[in-house]
Amino acid sequence: MNTNALRSLPQIDTILRAAEGNPALTEYSDVQIANAARAVIDGIRADILSDNGGQVDGTIDTIIIEIFRRLAQDSVHSLRSVINGTGIPLHTNLGRAVMPECVAEQVKLAAMEYTTLEYDVETGGRGSRHSHVESLLCQLTGAQSAMAVNNNAAAVLLALSALCHGREAVVSRGELVEIGGSFRIPEVMEQSGAILREVGSTNKTHLRDYAAAIGENTAALLKVHTSNYRIVGFTAEVGIGEMCELGRQRGVSVIYDVGSGDLTGSIFVGAGSARLSQDTTPRNGRVNPYPTTEPSVREGIAAGADVVLFSGDKLLGGPQAGMAVGRADLIAKMKSHPLARAVRIDKLSLAALEGTLRLYAAGKEGEIPTVAMLSATSEELRERADALVAILPQVAGLEYSVEATMGEVGGGSLPGVELPSWAVAIRPVPTNNHPITIMELEHHLRTRATPIIGRIVRDTYLLDVRCIERRHFAEIGAAMGAVGL
Ligand SMILES: *Cc1c(COP(=O)(O)O)cnc(C)c1O
Repeated sequence: MNTNALRSLPQIDTILRAAEGNPALTEYSDVQIANAARAVIDGIRADILSDNGGQVDGTIDTIIIEIFRRLAQDSVHSLRSVINGTGIPLHTNLGRAVMPECVAEQVKLAAMEYTTLEYDVETGGRGSRHSHVESLLCQLTGAQSAMAVNNNAAAVLLALSALCHGREAVVSRGELVEIGGSFRIPEVMEQSGAILREVGSTNKTHLRDYAAAIGENTAALLKVHTSNYRIVGFTAEVGIGEMCELGRQRGVSVIYDVGSGDLTGSIFVGAGSARLSQDTTPRNGRVNPYPTTEPSVREGIAAGADVVLFSGDKLLGGPQAGMAVGRADLIAKMKSHPLARAVRIDKLSLAALEGTLRLYAAGKEGEIPTVAMLSATSEELRERADALVAILPQVAGLEYSVEATMGEVGGGSLPGVELPSWAVAIRPVPTNNHPITIMELEHHLRTRATPIIGRIVRDTYLLDVRCIERRHFAEIGAAMGAVGL
């Protein structure tokens, strides 16, 4: 052990005096600088004690540089923006839907200014948080009444608690799904106090199964869209129309959790790969011949569902939120249930939700990034990939090309639907004894201040351009320019 080296380490006070007025450190507080100085000294001391003392440079200048490095590293926000090169528009781990600027402006206003959140400007008295989106939701879905809560998981919990507590909710065994790890329909039902009455089998449930299960204590028939998987082969599922007919005849409500919530039936997946609704009207000259796999909210209401539940940040393309739309008396029960307060939507999400719904109401849903990404055509994506590859700087040992890829929608929406897309493909030049591997490239891009998230397929790094905007090109160029530096 090098006791001399230990003894000659500068005192914290000496370091702080030397750092005083250093322009690189002006944005940090004295406390931050002192804490960083202590951490640096502790690190050097540990190195000396572990007999790495020979390599340790304990001069004041080196220590100050190290302090700056640490402070700069710590000041990077943990929750920060990334560039999504996965080709998955609703990537749950990357925050699902992103907002257009006009919606983000409303969020900014709601964040910086006082708002009419629960204030009625006509009466000068208390207003309702629900008032800001209720009429929009009714208009867009055809429902009588509506409310928004924290997310769809909360909407399901609240609906079951308010409408089925202590009574039975009848569900098909084929619909007892798990969504996103901790959200399982049977467990949510237990939490809500509703009694789960399972009917049918995993692959087949018939109307007679529901009919036979209805009794004195039945509160509702529950239909859950199996968002994140598909059962294929020998299957039977009862449509929402038939279930609603049965519910009407027997006097029990029908609750329909549609999950993703295609709102207007106008989201077309581009490139002719799939269509998200039953609506066959061509939009923007695009007709998609494929059958739908996502139910629309309006269809659920039109079929007679008493309450339809859906997410704000899946196909809708809005903020994290959960919507309940349907019969006024049932929605009123949900609004006044004690849990409603615990799962209420916050003002920033509410601002974003109103902004998003207004775009739908104005027929401008094409401005919503999720909708635009899903409906981008193959030609548009190809052009974008060509434009991106054109601005990337050459990197020794790596070569670029533009290639066709397959993405998916993500967020537990449209399972099994592939999104044909285009990507910038990066791979080592075969003849070069390339200094950088694809794994190293992926790591380099992922660990930058603005992480770039792509995919490795065999020995190729792929940046799918579906979720990459032209405003991201410069950052990607800079990142490639910094490869190996
Ligand atoms: C995604 C989903 C949920 C949960 O919605 P969140 O908004 O993520 O809480 C519930 N039910 C179904 C059918 C879903 O697809």
